[in-house]
Amino acid sequence: MNLKRKLAEGFEVLDTRGGFDPETRARYMNASEADRCLREQWFEKNRHHDGTPKKLGFARRGHAVEDQIVKSLVAAGVPIRYAGEDQRNIRSDKYRIAATPDGELVEDGLITFTEFKSIDPRVNVSNLPKQEHITQVRIGMDLRQQELREGNSVETVVGAWIIYVNCSNFDEVYTFFVDYRSGVVENYSRRAERLFTAKHPDDLPAEGIAKGGKSGGCKYCRFHHMCSGFQGELQRPDPNAGDLQRLPGERGLLDLLDEISSLKPVEASLKAKTKELKEGMSELQLAALTSEDGSHKAFLSKRSGAKRLDKEALAAALVDTDIDLDSFYNEGPATLSLTIKEEKE
Ligand code: SF4
Repeated sequence: MNLKRKLAEGFEVLDTRGGFDPETRARYMNASEADRCLREQWFEKNRHHDGTPKKLGFARRGHAVEDQIVKSLVAAGVPIRYAGEDQRNIRSDKYRIAATPDGELVEDGLITFTEFKSIDPRVNVSNLPKQEHITQVRIGMDLRQQELREGNSVETVVGAWIIYVNCSNFDEVYTFFVDYRSGVVENYSRRAERLFTAKHPDDLPAEGIAKGGKSGGCKYCRFHHMCSGFQGELQRPDPNAGDLQRLPGERGLLDLLDEISSLKPVEASLKAKTKELKEGMSELQLAALTSEDGSHKAFLSKRSGAKRLDKEALAAALVDTDIDLDSFYNEGPATLSLTIKEEKE
């Protein structure tokens, strides 16, 4: 028996148990990801099958640590609810935001959330709590408060404990209290709206690049090979604008355009003469030609035709199978294309 493979299979089975169904998850901005690059979130929701496979090792470690903490709190008689197997997902369809808190403590009608995080022993604890975790609990608390209000509950949310546990030494525990703030969900709903109305990743800011470039968050994004990195909208300046209305650097680009334009006729004649030379050498079956002063050589060689996949034949061969050819297409990142045209009078 290959135990390593069996273990991987078992991990996958456990991953699918009790979790938040991926299709539902894709319809909401999740509190734990709300501060992540908007473009990365878009890829995750729309093109998750195109990224490099998600590595779940750290998430599994987190679940194992969380399980141990919940069991320990229960063993100590702490009145924790909606934790472990009873964890619940709170969603707002109005704002398209969801959260799955790790549990809540109730005392005299006052609710305090709990959020458990396993940390690597190398983490700089002076940087804790992380802003993204504060956002996560504040969104969760606000969603819960809305739910309580709608249900006319007498309970109210007052704050959250974020509990970090060193994953290689459970004796090292750091706790931080985050107070409840109202209006957080509404504030984040603007981000959620952008995320869900964007038709293309380029419609959203490349926040990962803005925050830290390739040396920052971006190198961890599994969609980086599909991200154009292009920021913002293209602008169409007024062609009659005076120098004072131009963007900084635009004047230099105008000089470059003038220079390229003056070379255009030469480029066209170069292409035509090259074509003529190729046809002439082909007619005479000449493989090489050296200029009279020896400074230039022209070579004519045979190149095998490029191999191309016969997509129509392949689609016909797959017609009676469950294989969908379209699902094997990857779309590369958007690129910018430059066309220089001569404007006719
Ligand atoms: S590569 Fe960077 S900017 Fe692009 S989606 Fe990923 S995190 Fe965002």
